[in-house]
Amino acid sequence: MAAKWMSVAEVKQQILESSAEELTANYLETINKSKINGYITVSDKALEQAKKIDIEGLKGPLAGVPIAIKDNISVKGLPNSCGSKMLKNYIPPFNAHVIEKLLEAGAVILGKTNMDEFAMGSSTESSYFGPTLNPWDLERVPGGSSGGSAAVVAAGEAPFALGSDTGGSVRCPAAFCGVVGLKPTYGAVSRYGAVAYANSLEQIGPLANNVSDIAVLMDVIAGPDARDSTSAPNAKPEYQAALKADIKGLRIGVPKEYFGEGINPGVEKAVWAAIQRCEELGAFWEEVSMPHTKYALASYYIIAMSEASSNLARFDGTRYGFRAEGETWHSLISKTRAEGFGAEVKRRILLGTYALSAGYHDKYYLKALKVRSLVKQDFEKALGKVDVLMAPTMPNPAFKLGERLEDPLSLYLSDVNTVPINLAGVPSLSLPCGFTAGLPVGLQIIGKPFEEPTLLQTAYTFEQNTDYHNKRPPEVV
Ligand code: GLN
Repeated sequence: MAAKWMSVAEVKQQILESSAEELTANYLETINKSKINGYITVSDKALEQAKKIDIEGLKGPLAGVPIAIKDNISVKGLPNSCGSKMLKNYIPPFNAHVIEKLLEAGAVILGKTNMDEFAMGSSTESSYFGPTLNPWDLERVPGGSSGGSAAVVAAGEAPFALGSDTGGSVRCPAAFCGVVGLKPTYGAVSRYGAVAYANSLEQIGPLANNVSDIAVLMDVIAGPDARDSTSAPNAKPEYQAALKADIKGLRIGVPKEYFGEGINPGVEKAVWAAIQRCEELGAFWEEVSMPHTKYALASYYIIAMSEASSNLARFDGTRYGFRAEGETWHSLISKTRAEGFGAEVKRRILLGTYALSAGYHDKYYLKALKVRSLVKQDFEKALGKVDVLMAPTMPNPAFKLGERLEDPLSLYLSDVNTVPINLAGVPSLSLPCGFTAGLPVGLQIIGKPFEEPTLLQTAYTFEQNTDYHNKRPPEVV
């Protein structure tokens, strides 16, 4: 059996019928034939790891199950490029917390996936390694910045994957590639070992072909970790226990601001049809208003760029990765940064430094923080009245490669429905809910802090009563 589009349960069954080694070999064969440039590195240790698991007797909930990892999450011994020339030869000497958990559970790391440089983008086109192609239409972007992770799952080149989401980077590519993606509550998953872009916003999150596999992954990766000071000490919920196909009585809020100007009519139609389907399944919906939504994008980009300008200061040629030749200490650093970073990263470092500089700090950065509080209050108020919010993940389906490259602002604008969630720190899941012009549409389900189980139950119920998650991209079959 070709290793394509299997759920974790099917993967496990397949391993019992053959072996972890054979299963991994099948995936590697599929990856070998790939047309989408989803992986930056394919692990040369995957087969060995799978073989060891066979010999040790399949211990752990993910024994022998392969997974793909975004290239900003450290896996010991594999390059962690962050999609950048700056780190293309950097090999971390340690595992991220989530990788330790995955290895303990018996998972096999297939490789590291393509991404926008340092996770800055929504199309995976800013990668130093060239763009990933959308499996549904090879002329289109897969979304970003975790575009590689979403695309390899959609193309059957991994059963599931990890990404990171600072302002939509798990949910946007999940929506564009027709897979499920979860941005957990801020603090639910340790970020130890993930390269920081904007710490106050980001979380590591899972991508999979179905909701159950998201829950399986969350049960493995979530929970407290003393090495991440923002990791929440709460006891972690049991995510798989939430997979009940029942949303009778669920109260859904539909924020009208998320259906704003410029929304693609096909996206709007598919999302409304999904909300109505939930109503038929016993949920109630009402319109809610989140009046500060229109300021969220500006606030997000000021905060994200400010944090990025500080975080990326460490890449100076004296510690990690790329180093240019320079006569003096100063010229070494400036040449390293000029040659090592791409255009989008430089733009953000410049803008972030400006927003934090003396004289502008109050006007931009502090103001953005105040707006962030207002956006957060919108969520507290809305989620005080309803159990979940539903909205389009992205206002448009996947766009053509190159279409927005000349105009960074048009790319930033497409994050309008994802960034408010990161400002508020609440959990949010993107779920395939239909198609427009042959391209997948994502339904975004947003919840209260640490109520991922409600999101999973809602998404699972929808999935059990629809067929979108079983649709596969025609190009790669
Ligand atoms: N597109 C957003 C940005 O460029 C979000 C990226 C992300 O979530 N990493 O900042």
